[in-house]
Amino acid sequence: MSAYEPVIGVEIHVQLSTRTKMFCGCELSFGDPPNTHTCPVCLAHPGVLPVVNEEAIRRALVIGLALGCEIAPRSIFHRKNYFYPDLPKAYQVSQFDIPICGRGEFTAIREDGSELTVGITRAHLEEDAAKLTHEGGRRAGAEGSVVDFNRGGTPLVEIVTEPDLRSGSDVATFLRQLRQTLLFLGVSDCSMEEGSMRADANVSIRPVGSHELGTKTELKNMNSFRFLERGIEAEIARQERILSEGGRISQETVHYEPETGHITSLRSKEESHDYRYFPEPDLVPVVPDPAWVESLRAEQPELPVPLRRRMVAEMGLSAEDAEVLTESPELVEYFMQAAALADPKACANWIRGELRAQLRETGEEPWQSKVTPAHVAALVDLLAAGTVSVPAAKEVLAGMIQTGDQPAAVVESKGLAAMDDGDLAAIIAELVAANPDQAQQLRDGKDKVLGFFVGQAMKQTGGRANPQSVQKLVREAVLGE
Ligand code: ADP
Ligand code: ZN
Ligand code: MG
Repeated sequence: MSAYEPVIGVEIHVQLSTRTKMFCGCELSFGDPPNTHTCPVCLAHPGVLPVVNEEAIRRALVIGLALGCEIAPRSIFHRKNYFYPDLPKAYQVSQFDIPICGRGEFTAIREDGSELTVGITRAHLEEDAAKLTHEGGRRAGAEGSVVDFNRGGTPLVEIVTEPDLRSGSDVATFLRQLRQTLLFLGVSDCSMEEGSMRADANVSIRPVGSHELGTKTELKNMNSFRFLERGIEAEIARQERILSEGGRISQETVHYEPETGHITSLRSKEESHDYRYFPEPDLVPVVPDPAWVESLRAEQPELPVPLRRRMVAEMGLSAEDAEVLTESPELVEYFMQAAALADPKACANWIRGELRAQLRETGEEPWQSKVTPAHVAALVDLLAAGTVSVPAAKEVLAGMIQTGDQPAAVVESKGLAAMDDGDLAAIIAELVAANPDQAQQLRDGKDKVLGFFVGQAMKQTGGRANPQSVQKLVREAVLGE
């Protein structure tokens, strides 16, 4: 046991996938040629005036409502001043003391089923900076840097958590499920690789039992949850080493090198007063109509974490089924349509198991394939009725993926219907006669040998034997049951 307890709070930047930027009419773009989506407003020409994007406000409200945040009846924008080439105004329009979304909380489910509740401090609106690229190396030692203003002015929501997290793995669990929730809300692409979701972790440690906060460091801009988790664990270990040797933690921004596992210091961190925040005089306060806010609350979709709980409690799914099937809104929709028509647990097994495995070859997702949720439900019903065996059902699925035919039609055209017991009995009689040793084992009470007969019967019939029927008929033939 360590003598120290880790304390972690995260700040998450989410690029909203609106059509246009936060304060001008330029379209958002990713991957377009540099500086093709700019105008006098987002390039900060003198005398221009920003106009708030209403869709960005709507999405910030949708996020705040999903996080159970208090929605501010009136919030304002501030200028956050700093000089850097990615910021043509030399300030970023952000929110400071009155954010659009205040206190809330988010509950995630850990792998062991326990709940992880994290306080949300705030979620505020701001604009993204432009993108700097350093040529011929990292920032230090680069031959030169170029700036692409396409990203400048993209609407962002920054979500800030309370320092409620205690491990790198909890941070990863929280962020994965928060990301999933944002995807279900349809507010952002949340792509870690493309940077439309970016998370910074603030890390400190304190003696176990202490309630004071230690000095924190900030681990910035990891582009995967796995690396962030590892980086946090490495930073916790570094801080423990320093404190146990009698040293002190200095407040700074740190960087984790996934290749080496090393933590390096980037710069000492600014305090918020260094930014000289002041109210943005060019923008009016955000005062959302309460009726609008209520209608957004009412329109909220069922969110993945509560949905997972309901799938386990009411639909008989395992926690793992629920986790896999809530991976995307499309998969949820697909599964729910099938589960409305046939046994939910069987539908879950077939969709997350065999269907996805077979589709891996074509690279399709279930909802993009020729197999509809109704087809899955019909196949599950055929199995339950004993019309097809499990191996035959897998072939039916393969047929449906190719043709999009109803399962019954594939069964017909490929001759996959399970044999009736009369035809099967003749084959079993031959098998029993040909394998006297195995028959004797069964007489000796070694029931495991039934598996051998099932395998042989499957071989003989090309998978058309129903395993339950084979077991029953072998028992009859050998034991006279
Ligand atoms: P700053 O002024 O440096 O931006 P804030 O108080 O605004 O710091 O907090 C930023 C983030 O850091 C929040 O997510 C918060 O929960 C977290 N945080 C604040 N203090 C600590 C600490 N001592 N240890 C770990 N996380 C902290
Ligand atoms: Zn513009
Ligand atoms: Mg802060």
